[in-house]
Amino acid sequence: MRFASVTLDIPATSLDDAFTYALPDDGCVDGTPALIGCAVVVPFGKRHVIGFVTDDKAEAPAIDPSKIKSVEKVVSESFFDERAVVTAKYLAKHCIAPLSSCIRLFTPPAAIPKVVEGPDGHYEIVRPSVSAADDRWVVKGPNFERFVARKNAAKQSSIVAALSKGDLRAVELSLEYGSVASALSSLEKSGVISIEHRRRMRMGDMPEGDKNFVPSAKPKLTAGQSLALDAISEGIHAQEGRVFLLDGVTGSGKTEVYLRAIEEALSMGMDACVLVPEISLTPQTVARFRGRFGDVVAVIHSAMSQGERFDQWDFIKSGRARVVVGARSALFAPFGNLGLVVIDEEHEYSYKQDQAPRYHSRDVATWMMDRFKGMLILGSATPSLESLHRCQTDGSWQRLVLSERANKKPLPPIEVIDMTAEFKGGLRSMYSKRLLFALKQELLAGNKAVLLLNQRGFANFVMCRECGYVPMCPSCSTSLTYHEYGKRLTCHHCNHQEHLLAACPQCGSPYLMKYGFGTQQAEIYLRSWLDADSNLGSGIPLIRMDADTTSAKGAHQKLLGQFADAGAAVLLGTQMIAKGLDFEKVTLVGVINADTQLKLPDFRAGERTYSLILQVAGRAGRADLPGKVYVQTYRANERAIVAASTYNRELFMDEELKMRSILNYPPYCVMANVLVWGSSQSKTASVAQSAYADLEPIIDGMGEGWSISMPCPCVLAKVRGAYRYHMLIKAPYSADISSAVIGYFKEKKTVEDVNVTIDINPIDIL
Ligand code: ADP
Ligand code: ZN
Ligand code: ZN
Repeated sequence: MRFASVTLDIPATSLDDAFTYALPDDGCVDGTPALIGCAVVVPFGKRHVIGFVTDDKAEAPAIDPSKIKSVEKVVSESFFDERAVVTAKYLAKHCIAPLSSCIRLFTPPAAIPKVVEGPDGHYEIVRPSVSAADDRWVVKGPNFERFVARKNAAKQSSIVAALSKGDLRAVELSLEYGSVASALSSLEKSGVISIEHRRRMRMGDMPEGDKNFVPSAKPKLTAGQSLALDAISEGIHAQEGRVFLLDGVTGSGKTEVYLRAIEEALSMGMDACVLVPEISLTPQTVARFRGRFGDVVAVIHSAMSQGERFDQWDFIKSGRARVVVGARSALFAPFGNLGLVVIDEEHEYSYKQDQAPRYHSRDVATWMMDRFKGMLILGSATPSLESLHRCQTDGSWQRLVLSERANKKPLPPIEVIDMTAEFKGGLRSMYSKRLLFALKQELLAGNKAVLLLNQRGFANFVMCRECGYVPMCPSCSTSLTYHEYGKRLTCHHCNHQEHLLAACPQCGSPYLMKYGFGTQQAEIYLRSWLDADSNLGSGIPLIRMDADTTSAKGAHQKLLGQFADAGAAVLLGTQMIAKGLDFEKVTLVGVINADTQLKLPDFRAGERTYSLILQVAGRAGRADLPGKVYVQTYRANERAIVAASTYNRELFMDEELKMRSILNYPPYCVMANVLVWGSSQSKTASVAQSAYADLEPIIDGMGEGWSISMPCPCVLAKVRGAYRYHMLIKAPYSADISSAVIGYFKEKKTVEDVNVTIDINPIDIL
């Protein structure tokens, strides 16, 4: 008898481990081998469930072998390998998450069979909804040349004529000639044609590989790029888990460095993975990688349909894809031999997954490349303080600097516009005169402008001027945002919607004022300003990009296409327009309100503001035309704003690090956020108290530098009807909080309707 470890695919509430099941001596069930990575059916209690084999040569457990149940069926090919198992186990431990949820990261999307239990112990396997798709192709048959056109069979003649130029899909023929089913069937019977089923690759809006592929020309490297590549190339050959932080200003040609590094890795037989923030994963980005490496490039992102994602997954699994470009989850694609990971815009918060397992791509990639002896490149114009700090303290991390743009053009000058002074001077609009004047100059010259306002909707909130009533979300502890479209109030946390009433529901006053402004108001105002100016004419395209205009599939790309195709034009949007965009004619960047994030009670607020200004400024003057940036703010003396506008990182870092060191925040400590939430406030509060009572002695016993805060309501005290409490654990830099508290999380009793989770290295503690 042999044994297999099987991780049950049950969205577990407790932290599971693998169970041991028996296998026949040859490791096969009904002739199918139960390899690592296969989905299997196993008995579990009185039920049957799907599990994944995580070890196909497990040790015999220390119990009577006759008591061990057997694997009953193998229901899939092997989805993942041993490396994946090791990584999933690391994730489960590091993030304190159920192993099954970590294993799931490595399986193809929506392709797991299900067990449906019937009466008296019978069960059925339901095949997944997503699988490979076939196309019916019509090709020449053995008698093709001998085809004789008959009268009344015009369709047959047309089909044969069309086929003489090459194979065609049946759907194409029916688009052209209407219903072709009977014509095809008689042609097939007489051997004139045959029908073949061929695998189809669903591609969505991504560009297809080109058969006559010629790699894009490689530019001569700049001095900075060459130096960086020398170090990187040595790192790839060393195969010892080195990390390079490519710290290069916007437009310095970081992508070219990635391309060369990937080329090197491929030549050594390794595969490469490039992570980019979800929002910059556009056909434009993909085209740069396809342009150099052709059809060995696979793409994975969440806006793809499940079929498209399945096809990409399968393409990688087959070994034909060697480079994967994707968002967060691409790191878990079925690579044959992943040897290089690139994380572009490494400072981005979207690399943190906000549900279990709550991992950060940077941490996982660091761990993977260390463990599997590969290499990691982190790139950014505004690296995170954590990464910069690590380069100073960890010998295997090295910072590489690209201080100039690849085309030697200067970075655009940034001018700060103090809106408090403007207000004193009589300004009542959200746009200062200087910004509008500059905008007009550029538009008249036929150039483009990018305007950032990191607040969607029309107004931030509504308030009754007589009694101060503010409409709040019934399920969240936040005020509702006013949207002009449909005159409705919307919650940006749970998407609750209601109509704006004509009068205050509390006092009946008609004076409901809208306070603050969002992208909708910015758009309406700008549109009328553009239209009112006879020199500009009314035809200047104004494209708004925010979560509301980009919710439809492909909308993001369509809007960017409109902006690219237009001459003079304005792109107005939230932070989704701040990164990655590379349009030649953008000569003006305006930040309408730089203060939207500064007010958040978050120790990273300054860092977020600093990097957002520099990222969006980087969109200006990227080609021949010089760029100019205007930043409107009510806090013109704020360090983050002064430092960003003078490109003085030291100014920002020195003070920021001092403050973080005094207050003991990362990078001087590691943190974890214990979150307790439930629908009953009193029950949630009492569970939070008892969690604290259990955790406090553990943390206390760890020694110097460890602390846990008393439970208190989160800043967002209620979200989607759930009351939220939290406690912050801090530990010395490079301490391992997971190991210290995993025991508690494994053994804690579950309380109905109350959840307790932990987020290690949280990004969001609101
Ligand atoms: P980053 O990612 O650092 O913002 P990009 O990789 O987008 O910068 O490069 C900016 C521009 O410079 C691109 O248009 C790119 O084609 C060009 N570029 C990169 N490297 C070189 C080089 N060595 N010589 C000339 N142009 C280059
Ligand atoms: Zn009122
Ligand atoms: Zn809400």
